[in-house]
Amino acid sequence: MFRAISQLDNVYLYCHTTYPDEGWDVPRLLVENSIQNRTFFSYICVNCKKVTASKFQGLNIQCAYCNNDAFLPQTRLACSEKELCNIINCFDLYAQISSCEALGIPSIESTACGVRVLNVNYSAMSDIINKLQCISIEPDAFNTEPQSGRRMAAISSENIANKIKQWINVNDNKQLVRSHYDDNYPFNKSIENWIEIIDSIPIENKWQIPPDIQNPEEPNWNLPNDLFIEECIIKTLKLPDFLGSWSHAESLTALNAGIFINNGRFEKIEKKNIFEYFLNIRNKINHWESKRKQCIEQGFI
Ligand SMILES: [Zn+2]
Repeated sequence: MFRAISQLDNVYLYCHTTYPDEGWDVPRLLVENSIQNRTFFSYICVNCKKVTASKFQGLNIQCAYCNNDAFLPQTRLACSEKELCNIINCFDLYAQISSCEALGIPSIESTACGVRVLNVNYSAMSDIINKLQCISIEPDAFNTEPQSGRRMAAISSENIANKIKQWINVNDNKQLVRSHYDDNYPFNKSIENWIEIIDSIPIENKWQIPPDIQNPEEPNWNLPNDLFIEECIIKTLKLPDFLGSWSHAESLTALNAGIFINNGRFEKIEKKNIFEYFLNIRNKINHWESKRKQCIEQGFI
């Protein structure tokens, strides 16, 4: 995005984002692309909560309204909806340049403000493009992220710059843009959908069924791995539904390998650990089922 802006004349970039974060090195991107003078950031005042738009000046500046400290937006320091609405209404175009995305809330917020959205035609963004009549950018390529196996879109700066060039001077009809939001994501319609879904779920009153409190038994330690885990599930955990579950499969894979990966670290695993894993689940079930039993006996449910 920063590089795309550097390829355009008379185009300004506004970033409503925090720094430092586990993401981009913002000062470096500004300097590398020589766009320090046409990139603005939101700084939010800790005192009056008003937003000052400023060129990048590090983590904090002096609030233009009350002279207190103003910081880049953070989860603990957000601006009001009204302020965000004012910020978005300064834009000619909102660019959602993501390699993948679920429901991109800012795209919906921008459309609600009548500001046209530039969106990547990939993952859930494709759905939003159709619904909100966004300007669509086709990815130039796809990369597979090694850690997660996710397919990520790659969008070149030239691609972004060309789209912005085509659209930046289009005199959009803000009411028309807003209507795409009203047609698809109005607040009341979302609430109605939730009510309909929740109401359609059949009520299963299980509070009064007999408590599932059972004594865990030890498996036969001499069994081969596969049969040993089956016994752990049947005799220790006492939940036959766990047979064939993800936990069952993962336990068998780990026990056969003798190791499992915990937060990126290899750890040794043996039958004792598998037994303790299922025993722990059974103990938790017994604990909470005992609480429910007490509630039934005391007439609370
Ligand atoms: Zn202030």
